[in-house]
Amino acid sequence: MTERFAGSFTQQEPLSEEAIAAAEEVMRHGRLHRYNLAPGEAGEVALLEEEFAAFTDGRYCLAVASGGYALSCALRALGVGSGDPVLTNAFTLAPVPGAIASLGARPVFVETTEALVIDLDHLETRAVETGAKVLMLSHMRGHICDMDALTALCDRLGVAVIEDCAHTMGAAWAGVPSGRHGAIGCYSTQTYKHINSGEGGLIVSDDAALMARAILLSGSYMLYDRHRAAPPAEAFEALTGEVPNVSGRMDNLRAAILRPQLADLPARVARWNRLYGAMEAGLRGAPGVALIDRPQDEAYVGSSFQFRVPDWTAARIEAFLSRCASRGVELKWFGADRPAGFTSRYAHWAYADPDPLPQTDRVLATLIDMRLPLTFLEHDCALIARIIREEAARP
Ligand SMILES: *Cc1c(COP(=O)(O)O)cnc(C)c1O
Repeated sequence: MTERFAGSFTQQEPLSEEAIAAAEEVMRHGRLHRYNLAPGEAGEVALLEEEFAAFTDGRYCLAVASGGYALSCALRALGVGSGDPVLTNAFTLAPVPGAIASLGARPVFVETTEALVIDLDHLETRAVETGAKVLMLSHMRGHICDMDALTALCDRLGVAVIEDCAHTMGAAWAGVPSGRHGAIGCYSTQTYKHINSGEGGLIVSDDAALMARAILLSGSYMLYDRHRAAPPAEAFEALTGEVPNVSGRMDNLRAAILRPQLADLPARVARWNRLYGAMEAGLRGAPGVALIDRPQDEAYVGSSFQFRVPDWTAARIEAFLSRCASRGVELKWFGADRPAGFTSRYAHWAYADPDPLPQTDRVLATLIDMRLPLTFLEHDCALIARIIREEAARP
């Protein structure tokens, strides 16, 4: 009998009763704006910031309207402006070069390795060629490069690092939480990431001047004293009149539903990694399939799964994908000619006028991707892996 998978790769879990109750409370009192507080009230956003700073072991935290906003805010806080080159991964998602372009700055794409991380040799070459002073490092699909080597290289080059942790909230490198190796860490709380408020973002930094700028940028008016995970007043006073308001605050309703999810994140990470483990076990040794190496120092969150089919032609991949899809297994392919769903790639971002990157092209041409939502169970992953295995064995 031919097995079929009947689940959905895009269905998230419902919110917990605790999150729903917290949201209801905010709706009943009506103070949705983060600075609209009753006497003595901290507010959900300020509490979320405090809790997320503790979770990432960061000194300061700011909650904002989206992950993309967090990225552009971090760039502005670092002083990136019109025409400036900003290094970034060629293998990333559209909001990353989009954040760079939103400032009139210029994305400089860096090659990708077979482990799906930034190529450090090429990073050095491009940094020297362009004189770029900022790297927006995207931990795309949760793959973390050797952060010790990257940090040493960027220190040597005088390049400040912003980490895009949209896929690594809850992950770590050598015991240090993802987002805590560079000057600023940015996270997304959009529905398809690790905690879900529909839209939302978080910024973490230990640098008081950078965080004061980010808070002012986000539209704090003169109300920054209502923050809790924020630098002292002097850091803001030094900036009076210097920083434009580019409104992008988070509201209390979203923060209210995020706080219980953050508290539950370690348990969710463990569940994701069981799904990831089941998929990896099911696909190990499948014909033509190369799994992605995960380094010892990387504590990842297995919320998505990638594998390569390095010896296959585009035609064979297309036939394989359509056979899998007909059995309910909707895989994404980074090698498609035209952007589809969330799988666009650097060559599609014509506005950035990207130079060809042969190594990235070669890796992406045979890279397959799938989400692992927490509505899946381990036996779902085992079934999906059996289907992929069977279809991979066909010529
Ligand atoms: C989702 C995502 C972002 C941006 O997050 P939004 O909250 O959707 O703006 C940034 N980088 C990557 C790699 C993402 O997947």
